[in-house]
Amino acid sequence: MNREITRIIPGILTSDGAGVRLRRSLGGQDRQRLDPFLMLDEFSSNDPNDYLAGFPSHPHRGFETVTYMLEGHMLHQDHLGNQGHLKTGGVQWMTAGRGIIHSEMPQQESGTMRGFQLWINLPAKEKMKPAGYQDIQEDAIPRANLLGGGMLKVIAGEYRNLQGELIRGPIYGLSTEPLFFDIHLMPNEHFSNPLPSTHNAFIYIYEGSLMVGSSSQVAPKQAAIILGEGKQFNMTATEEGAKAIVLAAKPLDEPIVQHGPFVMNTREEIEQAIDDYQHNRLTAV
Ligand code: FE
Repeated sequence: MNREITRIIPGILTSDGAGVRLRRSLGGQDRQRLDPFLMLDEFSSNDPNDYLAGFPSHPHRGFETVTYMLEGHMLHQDHLGNQGHLKTGGVQWMTAGRGIIHSEMPQQESGTMRGFQLWINLPAKEKMKPAGYQDIQEDAIPRANLLGGGMLKVIAGEYRNLQGELIRGPIYGLSTEPLFFDIHLMPNEHFSNPLPSTHNAFIYIYEGSLMVGSSSQVAPKQAAIILGEGKQFNMTATEEGAKAIVLAAKPLDEPIVQHGPFVMNTREEIEQAIDDYQHNRLTAV
């Protein structure tokens, strides 16, 4: 059975950090989420006033953040002195675990800054694990050619290519088994692929336009397009072609209590996180 659209969460313009303009779909209005995905932000601007202020020092606890840079250069620095340069086509996969205090600052004063930040929840038993991250440069992300001339990047999970080989992305083996593809379709190209029926899934179109499932209507751009149950998904680009990210992961089915950058299971755990942060214990092992 093919997955069809069941819900659409539009990306709403907002600002975060010290005043970065972005478009928030998941986690925005009414905190609509898709378990285990908590939030999705798209930032895209060639006006430095929209991004220069960046995201100065701030904490996280209880989940993972994934930053995918389509264009631009950001510097990540954490409380331990670790540094990571996020450049065009690169990904940072950060597990906040019990705590991280970091900054994410643009390293450019002009030009286009474009990309995504996604928050993925951690299961209760992993929320207090030590923080860690992987910085993945563009050349470490495998690509596959598609039958209709398009291209797919495997950021997380696995994809079986036209030759029947299983291509594994740099992120693999997490307990929510995330899949993260960036798919570029040529004009009128059709694409379909299996998706584990255990997974929640959504599509986010960031360039061009396409139709999803059996619908003959063009799906909304810059929105989280939530897919229903099924074992595969399909999409067809219009005559302008399309670029979209596809995300899927196993739901946790656990209670969520969120207070800004802390995402835990109970109110007591949130109070503990705030207290730990105020007393410089957030990141202590
Ligand atoms: Fe952050």
